[in-house]
Order: sequence, then C-alpha cells, then structure tokens
Amino acid sequence: MKLSGKTAIVTGGGKGIGYAIVRRFLREGARVVIADSDDDLGTKAVEDLADLGDVEFVSTDVGERLDVHNLVAATKNAFGDIDILVNNAGIASGKDFLTMKESEFDAVMRVNLKGAFLCSQAVAKQMVARVEADGPPGTIINISSVFDKLALPEQLAYCVSKAGLKQLTNVTAQALAEYGIRVNAIGPGSIATDMMDSVNDDMKAKQRVLSRTPLGRVGEPEEIAGIAAFLASNDSGYITGQTIYADGGRLGLAFTIDKVEADET
Ligand code: NAD
Repeated sequence: MKLSGKTAIVTGGGKGIGYAIVRRFLREGARVVIADSDDDLGTKAVEDLADLGDVEFVSTDVGERLDVHNLVAATKNAFGDIDILVNNAGIASGKDFLTMKESEFDAVMRVNLKGAFLCSQAVAKQMVARVEADGPPGTIINISSVFDKLALPEQLAYCVSKAGLKQLTNVTAQALAEYGIRVNAIGPGSIATDMMDSVNDDMKAKQRVLSRTPLGRVGEPEEIAGIAAFLASNDSGYITGQTIYADGGRLGLAFTIDKVEADET
C-alpha cells in the first residue's frame, strides 16, 4: 500500500473524481477526510466507504476561510498531521462571455481558485511547521483541467480559474520546495461524472467530445484517482510543479477525428 499511515484531505470528495480519489487513498492505506459543501453527499460517502478504512466527513465550503481553518483543525484532531491535500472541489457554469454577470464569474473563481488557495495555504502552514520540527514533508495535488490551456468560449470563468490553478501549482511548488513539500496538478480531459451530464444527455455534444479524443472514449474517475495516488506517494518523490494531463490524447491532437458515427445514439 502506497499511502499507509498517511492523513489526507480531499475537497469535493462527496462524489465524482473526488470520491474516486478518496476510495483509492483508503485502499492505499491512508486515513481520509472528505471536505465537501454538500452534507448529504459527504455523509453518504462516509457510510459507503467506512469498510475500507478510516474516513470522516467535515462539512466545508472551500471558499470560506473559517470553514477551511475548521477543516484543518478537525482533520488534525481526528487523524493527526496532514500529509496530503487534494484540491479537487470545482464547479463549472456555462455562460456567454458578453452577457455573463459579475456574480457568475465570481462564483466559479471563488470555488475553483480561491478555494484551492485557502486550502493550500492553511494546510501548507501546518506542513511547514512539521518540517521545521524535523517531521516529514507533505504534498499537495490540484485537480486542474485541459482547460487550463484550452479555451471554451462558453466556459470563460472555468477556463480562467483552471489557468490560475496551474499557476497556483507552479508558484506554490516553488515557494514550498525548500521544505521538501511537493505540489503538482492533474489536468483531466472529459471524465464520466455528473459534471459531464450536459454532454452525456446531448448526442451532438458527446460526438464533439469524442471527435477530439484520440482514445475514443471519456475517462473514468478511477483513472484520475490512480494518478493522484502516484503523486501522493514517494513514487513521485522528485516531481514538483508539474501538471499531468489525463485526456485520452486530446491536447496532442491537431485536428478532430472523423471516425465518430454521425448518427450514433
Ligand atoms: P462533480 O460535480 O461530480 O463533484 C464536485 C464535488 O465538489 C461535489 O461533491 C460538490 O459538492 C463539491 N463542491 C462543489 N463546490 C464546493 C465547495 N464550495 N466546497 C466544497 N466542495 C464543493 O465534479 P467532478 O467532475 O468530479 O470534478 C471534480 C474536479 O475535477 C473539479 O475541479 C473539476 O473542475 C475537475 N475536472 C473534471 C472534469 C470532468 O470531465 N468531470 C474534467 C476536468 C477537470
């Protein structure tokens, strides 16, 4: 088991990619706190995963500083010093650029970027204090997206927030390197979660996604969780400041693929 005895926080761990990361970390021997703003999802996730190991839910809105401070205190109280933080909580909001409201822009930035900053800073302070007391360093993983590079006109706030998260990864990796604390990101392509519902329910949108995915399928949350387990473990001990893209080949593709059947249902 790669993460035996480690304590991890996974934000947005109540469902989707975050849930898969929590499950994988438990299987790798970690103790895990799920930090989610949806109390029903968080409570249910703990019930469903309790057989795999030590897992707790702390109700958290990652955009609220006081919630984040409570999260760090509650995690230390439950499982001791934090070794791994996964900034996974994220939202998307499809809006036209010319008409989108300031509040709609702010809502996405608040969760996807400010939330990751608040959690990273609060957890990093504890990690640095432990290193200064001759303890082991920890590691931070940010769940970014291929849209930290690619542009989707109807997802301006999402794309900008993920581009910011890429720089948060780069800068915090540099700032924390002297303590041995590693910071990396994962940039998924299209992954089968509720966030993809609007695509799954729309055949044309689905064809569009598949037409730009060389592997010809969407990814599974477990395929992101495996990368998170690698980045959280000593197997990636010399990697910091990087984003690993798991996108079925999408970023490398110069043109769309025309083998997707137009009338596929
Ligand atoms: P999801 O909608 O299935 O789950 C998101 C989780 O985050 C939910 O449990 C939700 O309650 C929680 N959450 C939302 N706002 C929160 C807040 N303020 N505080 C704490 N928790 C909050 O999403 P997903 O598809 O699993 O996406 C997870 C991450 O992966 C996101 O950062 C997303 O941008 C990224 N991502 C997803 C895809 C994809 O195709 N699904 C692709 C690239 C990147």
